[in-house]
Amino acid sequence: MSKNYGPEYVRAIAPYQAGKPIAEVAREFGLDEANIVKLASNENPFGVPESAKQAMTAAATELGRYPDANGFDLKAALSKRYDVPADWITLGNGSNDILEIAAHAFVERGQSVVYSQYSFAVYALATQGIGARHIVVPARNYGHDLQAMLAAIEDDTRLVFIANPNNPTGTFLPAAEIEAFLAKVPPHVVVVLDEAYNEFLAPEDQFESALWVKKYPNLLVSRTFSKAYGLAGLRVGFAIAQPALTDLMNRIRQPFNVNSMAQAAAIAALNDKEFLAQSAANNRAGYQQFVEAFEKMGLEYVPSYGNFVLVKVGEDAGAGARVNLALLKQGVIVRPVGNYGLPQWLRISIGLPQENAVLIAALTKALAG
Ligand SMILES: *Cc1c(COP(=O)(O)O)cnc(C)c1O
Repeated sequence: MSKNYGPEYVRAIAPYQAGKPIAEVAREFGLDEANIVKLASNENPFGVPESAKQAMTAAATELGRYPDANGFDLKAALSKRYDVPADWITLGNGSNDILEIAAHAFVERGQSVVYSQYSFAVYALATQGIGARHIVVPARNYGHDLQAMLAAIEDDTRLVFIANPNNPTGTFLPAAEIEAFLAKVPPHVVVVLDEAYNEFLAPEDQFESALWVKKYPNLLVSRTFSKAYGLAGLRVGFAIAQPALTDLMNRIRQPFNVNSMAQAAAIAALNDKEFLAQSAANNRAGYQQFVEAFEKMGLEYVPSYGNFVLVKVGEDAGAGARVNLALLKQGVIVRPVGNYGLPQWLRISIGLPQENAVLIAALTKALAG
């Protein structure tokens, strides 16, 4: 009999299920890579901004050296953009890294972490990875029920994760609701506000959460360059929080957690307002394209504030997996969300108009049987 290595809480982890890479689907289904449409990982359909490509080419010549461990230039750019001191910023190898660093920095084994049902899978992973206790609060209309989350906080709770907009459901909490929540959370509980999709919000829904950080010492705002900025493969995210939190994050993170190409590209992307505006505009148009098609097809969907839509493709528990397979055979990759407890649904990322049209045609065909 094989020995059980590692702690029981590590053995209990269900590994993260990533979107299938294009090459893998091409191999498995005997398809041409060039004809495959991937709408599975909420990536930016425009890919890497030109400005970032140029910055990376320049940075490539310096790859023989270690990156700046303190990310001076990127933090300076972020500090200017969000009007917070540079030492309020923590850089991460993707915002995924930020979420994990937060769990390690603020929670002891056995203490509890609060997050919502149907929220981002990494909250469960980060909690489990440190042997902390999960308090999973039932969702309301597929989104966070902040009142219930507040009530769920226990004496040993040290961390609350909130995704806004949420992935995989696309739901959104308006500023007033979050601020009311922050005002009531006990001060010893750190609130991680994960805003991976913030840049896709319509101007009237946007609010400067960095300003709340000035008011709430227990708030940590997390952002990423993976989605609207088009740099998912480089892995850059960041957190904004007061120094009492940032200082602990800094002790836990790897010294060189963000590589030099990524730092250079992120600065360029941050200053590329045109690319960001183009991405947001494409996303709004693509969302309309999907919503009109889903309504025509009589499919239920959750109104989304992100760059993806959660759509119900059947009533039985096998529906998501079945339709997903039918789409894969047609060369369209989307994300089944059975692992989130949503086996009748698929999460579909918004692509370019032509990619969206391919998805709509393939989905129509898949549902026709
Ligand atoms: C995609 C995503 C992230 C993290 O992405 P990184 O690539 O690690 O920056 C974080 N939170 C949510 C809710 C996401 O959907």
